[in-house]
Order: sequence, then C-alpha cells, then structure tokens
Amino acid sequence: MPNHVTPGLVCAHHHLYSSIARGMPAPPATPDSFISVLENIWWRLDAALDLDMIYWSAALGAAEALSSGTTCIIDHHESPLAIEGSLSTIAKACRDVGVRVNASYGVTDRWTNDGEMLSQVDPQSTMTHSARRGLDECLSFIKSGGRGMVGVHAAFTCSDETLAEAAALSESLGVGVHIHVAEGPDDIHAGERLQHLAKDNWLLIHGVHLQSQLAGRLVHNPRSNMNNSVGYAYPATKPNTILLGTDGIGANMMEEARLAYVRLRESDISQTPDTIAQWIDNAYEVFPEGLNDRVTWSYDHMDSPWHTAFTTSMNVESVEIDGERVYENGSITRMDISEIRAKAQEQSQRLFERLAS
Ligand SMILES: [Zn+2]
Repeated sequence: MPNHVTPGLVCAHHHLYSSIARGMPAPPATPDSFISVLENIWWRLDAALDLDMIYWSAALGAAEALSSGTTCIIDHHESPLAIEGSLSTIAKACRDVGVRVNASYGVTDRWTNDGEMLSQVDPQSTMTHSARRGLDECLSFIKSGGRGMVGVHAAFTCSDETLAEAAALSESLGVGVHIHVAEGPDDIHAGERLQHLAKDNWLLIHGVHLQSQLAGRLVHNPRSNMNNSVGYAYPATKPNTILLGTDGIGANMMEEARLAYVRLRESDISQTPDTIAQWIDNAYEVFPEGLNDRVTWSYDHMDSPWHTAFTTSMNVESVEIDGERVYENGSITRMDISEIRAKAQEQSQRLFERLAS
C-alpha cells in the first residue's frame, strides 16, 4: 500500500443519533455533574427521537464518517419512544451512504412501566417493558440478518435481571454485549455487577472508574471523557485490548487518535504514538472488513504514527469500500450530501421544537 493510503478506519463506539443534536437549545438546568448531563441533555433528547430523525441523523453521521476516512461504525442507539425498527433504520441510512455499521439498541430500566424516568435503578427490581422491547429489537434486527450486538445502556440504569437477560441473549445470538461501563462515579459498581457475565467479545465503553478487571475489549473515548469531566481512563494501564471511539462526537478517528495520544502523553512521557496506532489497529479484530477498504489521504506519511500524531491538517481525498468509490472530491458519491444536510437540518428543527415543548 502506498504511504498516502490506509485501510478504512473504525469508530468503535458512536451514537449516530447525536448528529442532529448539535446546536440544541440549552437544557432547563445547567448540568453540574455527569449524571445531570445525562438527565438534562441526553435522556431528554433520546426520548424525543422518532424514526425520521434517526434516519437523517444516521445518514449525516455516516457521510461525515466517510469524509474522515472512517468506513466502519459500531453504533449504540437509544430512542425509548421509537424502539421497534430503529436499528434497521440506522442500518439503512448507513447502507444508503455506503458505510459499514454494527448496530445495537441500548436497553435500560430507567423508564418505568408508568413512563417515569429514574436516574438510578435498583439492581433487585424487575425488568421493565421498555428493556424487554429493547432486547427484542436487538434480537429481531440480528435474526433478520442485521449486523449487530446486544446493547445495554449501563449497569446503573439496569436491574440484574435485565443484565442477565442481555448477556444470555448475546450468547444465544453469538454476538457480544455493547455496554457503557463505569463512565462516571454513578456507575462505580459496574465491575462487580458484570463480573460473572462479561465475555471476551463484549465491548466495554469508557471504564474510567472501573475498579475490577472485566473480560472484553475496552473502548476509550478521550474527547467525550474530557467533555463530560469524568476523568481519564488510563487505558494503557488496563489489561484489556483497547479500541478507540468517539461516543457520538463525529467519527474522525485520526483526530480522536491525536487527542488520545496527547492525553496519554500528558500522564506518561515515556509513551509513544505507536501505542495509539495499536489501539486503532485493534479495531480490525471486530471489524476486519475495514482492511478491504482504501482511504487516500492528502499526506504521504500515513504509515508513520510519529507523523500522523503531529499532523493536524491532513485531508481525505477519496474512500473506497470493497472497491467501490463512495467518497471523492469532497463529497459522498451514493447520495446528495446537500440533501442529507437539508433533511438533517429539518429533523434537528423538529427535535428542538419537541425538546422546547
Ligand atoms: Zn456512549
């Protein structure tokens, strides 16, 4: 491979529904903790999503991924008022744009059967209807040929019953569980609660406050962790295989890698960019098809982590997925990017109006 060409990059943790959230109105109360960011922003937002919003948000996120050389997305989705069909909607949007996706619905018991929202769920409580519907959505999507995992929001918003059911379902489907783990202090008990369930094929997201060892690959999202003030995950000290994700803040993996590098280096001067290059490569264990894709860059030292870690202005010139050119001359080829932007803008507007009412 010439040194201005790389395989397709993999975003190992994304939330494609967040593409249309940018510019959303300020929440009713200014968040002063991680849990209040969830309560005041993300849990209000996901409860306002419908399938049209989900489609155009995913299409925009997929198009932006291609423009950054990312051809594979591992998505984690929640839309409690539009559960059924949400995963096939995301998969269709990605297929229409030409991006590979692994989709999962993140089940949670934080919505009671009476429609009330809880910020912490009693582990001894029973599974909610909403969690059951989320598991069924994962099941029907994967059974009908979709590429996916069983999603779980996080241990602290799930009963033990739901965690066990999600693990059992993933086992029966032969896929892993995709779950946020100890992102903030509210989920500090995740390690002990998941210990007997986690398997090597699980994707553990964040692990910032993880106090025990868990089986599975750990996905580090440095920009999101900084944005949410949850602390540093110290991924290089963890025994797990490390992958990189964006947690919904775009899908520019070269950018995330550069940030991961300076964050790593901030606490350990002996580290090198090779560590980050390894984290990028580790993603091909879960998305090997990315190796069939070709990204042509404006920069010709793409095979050197010491170059890419310090080059902040590189651009993607073209992207091929399985030999098909899906991005060139600043634009995606399968759909009209102006149409995607216009439709996504309309859906943003609808979403913001719902949030305001
Ligand atoms: Zn996330």
